[in-house]
Amino acid sequence: VLDVNDLHVSFGSAPVVRGVDLTVRRGEVLGIVGESGSGKSVTALAILGLLPAQASVTGSIGVLGEQVIGASRRTLDRLRGNRVAIVFQDSLSALTPVYRVGDQLAEAVRAHRDVDRATAARRAVELLTLVGIPDPEVRAQAFPEEFSGGMRQRVMIAMAIANDPDLIIADEPTTALDVTVQAQILDVLRTAQRETGAALVLISHDLGVIARMADRVAVMYAGRVVEQATAAELFARPLMPYTLGLIGALP
Ligand code: ATP
Ligand code: MG
Repeated sequence: VLDVNDLHVSFGSAPVVRGVDLTVRRGEVLGIVGESGSGKSVTALAILGLLPAQASVTGSIGVLGEQVIGASRRTLDRLRGNRVAIVFQDSLSALTPVYRVGDQLAEAVRAHRDVDRATAARRAVELLTLVGIPDPEVRAQAFPEEFSGGMRQRVMIAMAIANDPDLIIADEPTTALDVTVQAQILDVLRTAQRETGAALVLISHDLGVIARMADRVAVMYAGRVVEQATAAELFARPLMPYTLGLIGALP
């Protein structure tokens, strides 16, 4: 579902992604771990076709059989509209403050499935249930700002899976949350991923998070993927001193 080849991204003369290769298969969870500034988010934005215009991008990015680099607005909108979903750290920005959460979810369902309003509204409640929102019928009537950060992040995950995506990109989806809530959200994300059978690219600077969730782990350092292995392999035989450092830093 995702095939990134020799991706380079630079802003002006500063290269920030320097030859990244990534492959993600259907239903697979790929974790990307790396220190701040290593190019994780830029890679994610490139995959989503969301880099600002001043970025220069080369290489190839195949998403669900479509080429993202140089793709038309329409192709990108279509990909993002119903096959690729995004979960970011800042959940408030992705929800519209003036609409009820249930309505936004129902709208997202209807953007993809040809169903009537009542069916979409029922599906919205189902999605809220799936992501563990207590009292989902009632909470569907609430506005985004009426949710706590952790609950809002659950809503974001519900939004992300509302249109049955084939690929979910989650960039630090739990960073802003306290540790217990983080674990809950990750479980929700994992459940959502299993439920939909979507592939998941999970980005975090926290190797603990990645190791719990990912089938495969890509370690990024200074704009490159310096190693890629299953979580178990990575812990047993880290190739790079940098990875060893990450493992050593785990509690
Ligand atoms: P973090 O863990 O802090 O989120 P990251 O690995 O996601 O880090 P990126 O956001 O991908 O890091 O940033 C990689 C580099 O690209 C950084 O040096 C950053 O300053 C630079 N960068 C990102 N976006 C832009 C932009 N729009 N214009 C110029 N430079 C940028
Ligand atoms: Mg980032």
